[in-house]
Amino acid sequence: MNVRKVAQPWWETKQLSEMTQDEWESLCDGCGKCCLVKIQDAQTERIYFTDVACTLLDCNTGRCKNYANRQQYVPDCVKLSNDNLEDLEWMPPDCAYRRLYEHKPLLAWHPLVTGNPNSTNDYGAGVAGMPMVSEEDVSDDELEDHVVTWPLDRVG
Ligand code: SF4
Repeated sequence: MNVRKVAQPWWETKQLSEMTQDEWESLCDGCGKCCLVKIQDAQTERIYFTDVACTLLDCNTGRCKNYANRQQYVPDCVKLSNDNLEDLEWMPPDCAYRRLYEHKPLLAWHPLVTGNPNSTNDYGAGVAGMPMVSEEDVSDDELEDHVVTWPLDRVG
């Protein structure tokens, strides 16, 4: 029998804390779900997704319109790092960072798995093209009316 050892990809062998900056950035699948406003029930602490998009989200592509300088324009944008992984509870369950943190494999449509940088949207797992409204047009009091389930259902 001919046995060939298959190398495991780096995201399966490295801890999040061991990744280089480039590796860390490449983990983001570009789904854009973290750019939707979430609200939390004060009693149950359950987190709900809304269809209200961050002012910098390009709703057609699902990408940030100014990723490099996003915190300059949106000061409360969470820049995920090893130092704030507790914020992962605000990320969707299919977020690559959250999945690796929870010791789950990347999903089949992740660009690192497919080798296709657009595979998240090709598989219909991102927010691109979904009906959304800008946070500039919605007051805090109206957020409850914008709760939607599709960001959690939309996993490709
Ligand atoms: S939810 Fe996670 S994988 Fe999706 S865009 Fe945000 S950081 Fe990237």
